[in-house]
Amino acid sequence: MTQDRPTYPPRPTATLIAGDGIGPEIAAATVEVIAAAGGQIEWEPALAGMTAAAEVGDPLPAATIDSLKRTQLGLKGPCGTPSGGGFRSVNVAMRQQFDLYANVRPAKTIPGVPSRFTGVDMVIVRENTEDLYAGVEHYVDPRRTAAESIAIITRYGSERVIVYAFEYARRMGRKKITLVHKANILKLSNGLFLDTGKEIAKRYPDIAFDDMIVDATAMKMVTQPERFDVIVTMNLFGDILSDLAAGLVGGLGVAPAANIGDGGCAIFEAVHGTAPDIAGKGIANPSGLMLSAVMMLEHIGQPEAAARMQRGIHAALADASTRTRDLGGQADTRAFTDGVMRYMK
Ligand code: NAD
Repeated sequence: MTQDRPTYPPRPTATLIAGDGIGPEIAAATVEVIAAAGGQIEWEPALAGMTAAAEVGDPLPAATIDSLKRTQLGLKGPCGTPSGGGFRSVNVAMRQQFDLYANVRPAKTIPGVPSRFTGVDMVIVRENTEDLYAGVEHYVDPRRTAAESIAIITRYGSERVIVYAFEYARRMGRKKITLVHKANILKLSNGLFLDTGKEIAKRYPDIAFDDMIVDATAMKMVTQPERFDVIVTMNLFGDILSDLAAGLVGGLGVAPAANIGDGGCAIFEAVHGTAPDIAGKGIANPSGLMLSAVMMLEHIGQPEAAARMQRGIHAALADASTRTRDLGGQADTRAFTDGVMRYMK
């Protein structure tokens, strides 16, 4: 299997999904900062979430899917899922539609952001389509006294996410991959993931490789977080460990993510939700989406703009006068955004 990452033109078009709640506020701030950093992206705005459900009767309209099919590149704000009425979750629908098999979540210590640890700089690459989340579940008997959920692990699914992790590590100058599993107990499914990883590792002699049992990993992540560089793991473990990693560096408010799909489609998004309690007040912290945009710039081959933008975000977060309220500061979205742009220069 080869890496299916496309090559991008100097100014690619990306689908911009502002989303719901604080989405439009943080998306506008992010687009402004990308331009100020010298990022070259043509935006194609598209609707999704509650806004789309209200305006066109579908939380993930065909026009938005068409746009993503065309651009193969998206920046997405948070989307609420309308309750009732049979509406599907936008995030789940997108994952299925574009076969977004790799969820990439960096967790890096940011000076000034309150957290228990320093020196954390890890990336979790989570397989996003298989395992216990493949949706294969049933009751064993008519009285529903027992249920089974089946973990599906395939060589194909394992290979593509592990290859992605190695290629990502190489591209980003990372040195080591730790494959996390429970193959001592789940010998067949997790054994397949582990064996596939060991085979693929032989093709990347420049990247160190080891493996670790998931329970030991959880313990080591909070005792020696600096020992981890890139972690690649299956869906359930990745889900849990990526939130744990976010907790090591200040929580979900500053957590970015990339979702990588079949054929190279890539959608970048903040990890937090729509924050309905503060929507429209101009006080949201846009750094999660901005850091996702940094990943996007790296992905499309614009590392200088990415580095400039990351420098500005980190400096604005470190400065108490530009830090947002969720992180103990007083700044609103505008003041934070201005701070980022000032620090980028
Ligand atoms: P949430 O992340 O929206 O909010 C939790 C708390 O964190 C709130 O107090 C909120 O004000 C605060 N917060 C979140 N992001 C912030 C930011 N950028 N700046 C400042 N404060 C911030 O979680 P929730 O309340 O459980 O979910 C609200 C809605 O978001 C739900 O409809 C849920 O389905 C949706 N959601 C969407 C996504 C996504 O699209 N990726 C992810 C999670 C939740």
